[in-house]
Formats: sequence, structure tokens, C-alpha cells
Amino acid sequence: MFDQLTQQPKDKILALMQQFREDPRPGKIDLGVGVYRNAEGVTPVMRAIRAAGAQWQQDETTKAYTSLAGDAQFLDGMCDLILADTAPRDRMASVATVGGTGAIHQALELIKSANPAARVWLSNPTWPNHPAILRHVGLQAAEYRYFDNESRAVDFGAMMTDLQGLAAGDVVLLHGCCHNPTGANLTMPEWTELAGLLLSKGAIPLIDIAYQGFGDGLDEDAAPTRMLAGKLPEMLIAASCSKNFGVYRDRAGILMTICASSADAALAQNNLATLNRLNYSFPPDHGARLVGLILSDPTLRADWQAELEEVRNGMLTLRTQLADALQIETGSNRFGFLAQHRGMFSRLGATPEQIETLRDTHAIYIIGDSRMNIAGLNAETVPLLASAIARAGI
Ligand code: PMP
Repeated sequence: MFDQLTQQPKDKILALMQQFREDPRPGKIDLGVGVYRNAEGVTPVMRAIRAAGAQWQQDETTKAYTSLAGDAQFLDGMCDLILADTAPRDRMASVATVGGTGAIHQALELIKSANPAARVWLSNPTWPNHPAILRHVGLQAAEYRYFDNESRAVDFGAMMTDLQGLAAGDVVLLHGCCHNPTGANLTMPEWTELAGLLLSKGAIPLIDIAYQGFGDGLDEDAAPTRMLAGKLPEMLIAASCSKNFGVYRDRAGILMTICASSADAALAQNNLATLNRLNYSFPPDHGARLVGLILSDPTLRADWQAELEEVRNGMLTLRTQLADALQIETGSNRFGFLAQHRGMFSRLGATPEQIETLRDTHAIYIIGDSRMNIAGLNAETVPLLASAIARAGI
């Protein structure tokens, strides 16, 4: 039987990580993998997670199953965090999922159950797992242009032109903030214009929000999602706690749907619980439980927000330092976009050959599509990268 299997394509990011580990050169710089790292190169356990974990170890009385939807405190807390008072709670359904990836998977399965003819529109480029999961679930994909390779900003005109092709019931996958892999994001007026188009076409947004708090702040990063929730009758929101709570391996995420009526919401809730049951039964609890504890405890929450601000401001400082260093190195302002981009990633706009030069000559690892992880830098490596970028002729 097993000889009938076909070899699956290698995950390019994981392959690059392997290559980095095997590189014997001292001073090598990893800007590939998408995890936050501090100036010491460590992905820390956040203070509030540690404190909530210690508290939970005392308070946990059983390891018996929770409910199929997951811990209610987590679901409520996340709904508040993302939608605040714009949440139409009587028209919403939500379930805890296996990280943000699980939320996207469940979202696509739910869409397939409700409307197998729906096309799901993805930005070009997008996180490579989006098209991969879409294919796996068996929905039809469509693509909209997103990034202008010249200005390294969003090509909003091209995006809106392509989305004119939306049919009623189609789904548009949008990165709620901190677009991965480009780092380029819509302005608020553009989001509002997009909301108008979605509404007029009868299309449904699926928001993937994996970096809330990594861009301009917790509320600022959620503002487009909240605006859409206020304007559109139906939407899906897939959120990850991996980055903003630093609980990557605990696999905490949530899928929320906003429905046209409370009767629809009850149906969606019933289907979401069943999808959890069919895929993995009960969702993982530990990470979600700690997130729920933090969000409902004012002291833990304040400390979490303070640390998240440190993380966010650290990345913004690195962005400005790199843009400044590149201005000096190249004598031009063409890397100013690095200070405009938000989140962990920026797409440099380099050719595959230039990426290879960075790796082979300078031991700097960036993904082939020229996405680099800003959080992989520190004050010492910024000038090294700037000089290498200039010498590679990017
Ligand atoms: N969406 C995007 C855009 C991401 O970058 C990621 C993580 N790389 C996820 C979703 C999923 O995150 P996780 O499954 O690790 O929670």
C-alpha cells in the first residue's frame, strides 16, 4: 500500500532552516524562519505566560476532556481582544483550534460544507500554507494581485481590479495585519473601500490574523477586522496566539464566524464543534487556557501587553535602523519601505541569485521569495546585513 504514496514537496522554509543549522560558518545570520527572536536570538516564554502557567499548575484539578468548542474563558477573551465592542455576539460562533493553521483549516472545511462552489481568493503572494491547505481541503482557489515589486507597497489598484471578478458567495482571504510574506499593508481608507466592494459583490472575508500586536498595537492591528465586522453581514476570523502570546508549540488558535442571524450562528456553532470532533475531537487546552487566564486577569494582562509592546517596539527600531543603514550604504532612499512595512516580515524584492549571494558569500539566510524576518536581526547584525545587501546589488 505505502508504495503507492507520492513524494510530497519539501517545505522551503523548513529546508532552509536545515541548511542554516548545517552551515559551519560563525556569525551566520538566520532571517528565514518565522518566529520572533529577541536581541539574544532567543524566542522567550513571555512573563505573563510563565506566571499564568505557574498559577494554572496549582489550580488545575483535572485533565479530563473540556468541550468540543474549547475553554469558554479563552473564546470570550479572544473575541474581546480581536473585536472588542464591535463583536455581534448574538450572531457569532467560535471554537478553539490547533493554532492559527488549525483555524484556517477548519474555516475552509466549514466553507466547503456550506458552499462547495465558493472560490477562495488569495493574495499573490501569501503565506504558502494558504494555497496548500486550500488544495488539501478541495476548494477552488482564485488569486488577486497584492504587491508592487517596484515600490514594495500594496498595489491597491491592481488588487481592486482583480477583485472585480468576485462572484456572490466567494470568500476573500485577507491578512488582518502584518501581511506575510510582504510586510506591506492596506491603509484604513483602502480597507474601507475594500469593505464596500465585498459588500456590493456579496463576498465574504476570511481574516487570517496571526500577528495582532506586532504592527502598530493591539487595537490598531485589529481595526480593519473590527471595521469589517461592523459593515459585513458574514465573515470568518482565524486567529493565532502563537506569536503574540509566544505559545508556538502549545498550538492555540481560534476560529470565529459572524453570521447573518442568530439562527445561522447556532448552525455554524454546531458545525464547528462537529468539525473539531471529526478532525481531532477536543482542541488542545493548555496554551488556550493560559491565554484565557491572562486576558481575564488585569495584572497578567497588563504585563502581557507591556511585554508585547517591548517586542513590537524592538522590531520597529530594527526596521528604522536597517532603513537608515541602507540609506548610508546605498546613498539612496530606495529601502525606505522597510520602515513603512509592519510585522515580522519584509519582502526585499531581491532576485533568487541575489538571495543566493547573501547566503553563499555573506552567510545570511533569507527565504527564496526574498522574505526576511526582521526579528532575526539585532543592533550588531543590522550594519552587516545593510552592507551585504548593498554589495549584492539589491
Ligand atoms: N497565518 C499566517 C499568515 C502565519 O504566518 C502563520 C504562522 N506562520 C499562521 C497563520 C499560523 O500560525 P500557527 O498555526 O503557528 O498558530
